[in-house]
Amino acid sequence: MSKFWSPEVRELTPYVPGEQPRQRLVKLNTNENPYPPAPGVERALREFPAAHLRRYPDPESWALREALAREHGVDVDQVFVGNGSDEVLALAFQAFFRQSRPLLMPAISYSFYPVYCRLYDISYRTLALDDHWQVPLDALSADSGGVVFANPNAPTGHGHPRSAIARLLEQVSERVVLVDEAYVDFGGESAVPLIDIHPNLLVVGTFSKSRSLAGLRLGYAFGSRELIEGLERVKDSFNSYPIDSLASAAGIAALADRGHFEACRERVIATRERTRRRLDELGFEVLPSQTNFLLARHHDLDAGELFGGLRERGILVRHFNSEALRDFLRISIGTDDEMDSLIEALEAICR
Ligand code: PMP
Repeated sequence: MSKFWSPEVRELTPYVPGEQPRQRLVKLNTNENPYPPAPGVERALREFPAAHLRRYPDPESWALREALAREHGVDVDQVFVGNGSDEVLALAFQAFFRQSRPLLMPAISYSFYPVYCRLYDISYRTLALDDHWQVPLDALSADSGGVVFANPNAPTGHGHPRSAIARLLEQVSERVVLVDEAYVDFGGESAVPLIDIHPNLLVVGTFSKSRSLAGLRLGYAFGSRELIEGLERVKDSFNSYPIDSLASAAGIAALADRGHFEACRERVIATRERTRRRLDELGFEVLPSQTNFLLARHHDLDAGELFGGLRERGILVRHFNSEALRDFLRISIGTDDEMDSLIEALEAICR
């Protein structure tokens, strides 16, 4: 604790991401994509003229926003970009959720949301998931200063269909509804087509998961012009050059290769379903997932011991330090070989 820290910083409990191991482990703990990005990304990085780095990047990130707009069937001025969706979320919390009434969010969701609330002095209220570990959309329509949830949700993996999000938006029109679609490409249904009808809907996405570019830090948001302008106002007060030139070039190259994108996500989905069946046979309850991870608990064995046993065998998964999730492991979907190693290790532990 330092006397130089402001009161908010003294109160802060920083978000701790999954461990980044130094030694070689099968790393299934931070929901990265096991496959490399589209080959065009490597080409774009190799061919990028270093001389261009002399100049500041385009403050409007026009080319990247145009590529995103084309890909998702929206207008360029309905697109915002940032350094990873974490930054986009941070800007959205500052722009829209500092209200007199508390922000609503599910009690089990992306653990960064409460961190932003504490950092930006936003009051919030959490709502329990329903009996099927699903986000309670009906309850989110209660009076509030805004709504945030991930769809599909993390770390539970369930996604609501677009029609259910549309029903929520019919009930909530006076404050912003932020839908975080970090995992939507692995079987979820995107709410982006609703932004034309609902000016209070902000959909946030990322290149980190289905585009295999977590190391680049590229995220984005789609919404009405008034929401995008709100984000721009906050962004310009911090850094009017959001995306570096090299990251923009790589992002555009990733979007250009639809074939690679489809092939990767289909492989991840197929591996997920195969892994799910194997875990089931090994005595796990596995929640249905529309993401690139599985949340599972063993009927008899303790999750902490399973986590330790896997780690001893060179496999890293996620065990959350929270009461509600203490029995569960979250397992990111790796390559087929990696998942075979996981299953072999679990067979040895469960034996
Ligand atoms: N939202 C959710 C639900 C996530 O799980 C993550 C990744 N941990 C993010 C947003 C942030 O992703 P990024 O900053 O890499 O775009």
